Amino acid sequence: EKECVGFARLVKQVQRNAVRQGFEFTLMVVGESGLGKSTLINSLFLQDLYKDRPLSGPRERMYQTVAITKKTVDIVEKGVKLRLNLVDTPGFGDSMNSTNSWKPVLDYVEQQFKHYHIGEASPNRKNLQDHRVHCCLYFISSFGHGLKPIDVQFMKALHRKVNIVPVLAKADCLTPSEIQRMKVRILKELDENDIKIFQFPECDPNEDELYRQQDLEIKKSIPFAVVGSNTTVEHNGKRIRARLYPWGVVEVENPAHCDFVHLRNMLVHTHMQDLKDTTDYLLYENYRMQLIQARKQ
Ligand code: GDP
Ligand code: MG
Repeated sequence: EKECVGFARLVKQVQRNAVRQGFEFTLMVVGESGLGKSTLINSLFLQDLYKDRPLSGPRERMYQTVAITKKTVDIVEKGVKLRLNLVDTPGFGDSMNSTNSWKPVLDYVEQQFKHYHIGEASPNRKNLQDHRVHCCLYFISSFGHGLKPIDVQFMKALHRKVNIVPVLAKADCLTPSEIQRMKVRILKELDENDIKIFQFPECDPNEDELYRQQDLEIKKSIPFAVVGSNTTVEHNGKRIRARLYPWGVVEVENPAHCDFVHLRNMLVHTHMQDLKDTTDYLLYENYRMQLIQARKQ
């Protein structure tokens, strides 16, 4: 057996410290209007964040540009604090000419890098705030045949700037075999277009059985087929989030119905730190290197 220094334990300690201080995490959602972004966010974090959303009709939307909004919620569970920044991008893909819908989103992501960079260089580093986007959930329509041009354009423009995690929206509109076919097709098209979505790291073999099982389920689920709902129903004496149809009930948190649970596990449990680390070591580092290169020229 190989000798080891015991970094693994150190990592665990770092994590424990981080737990005590609380986590800050920034999640962005992108995708065409009506794909269920706001509903999914509400379902993921059990909040009614987007209740007062003003309704805008299709006419009004036609010339609308992408607006980027940010909301912050503090969630405390079992003594662990999570400060969650949620970035929404209403209007994405809505205008008649949506070929440049990715541009304002790219600008936003780079702006956060820039602020962080300035903060790092300032003498007041202690109060350095990190509003870099750690993860971008990109919503793909279940009604199309794989990726649309706007999906490819967006992901190509952003994949070196932010961790993209693709989700198949409104998965309750497809049968299990249709979901499977769509997933295969999406993965194939991502590959053909050289789009690099977030790469899940290899699971540490020292993790316990439950963790490794979760990790495996997560990796098998990509792109996550998701269902969201703002409604709860009584089911076997428990209140659950679900969508009610005349022919039955779709349970958001039932892994037999969709991948919601795997997505939430990934975001808040197994891979939050990985998403933050990749943002810092890889994506932000690339940005910094490009700045240095640009200055030399
Ligand atoms: P957004 O524009 O992407 O933020 O979409 P919304 O969250 O506002 O949802 C648009 C509509 O789709 C609403 O009527 C939701 O009730 C519905 N919806 C949201 N999530 C789902 C889902 O998972 N499945 C189905 N069938 N409908 C959904
Ligand atoms: Mg919305």
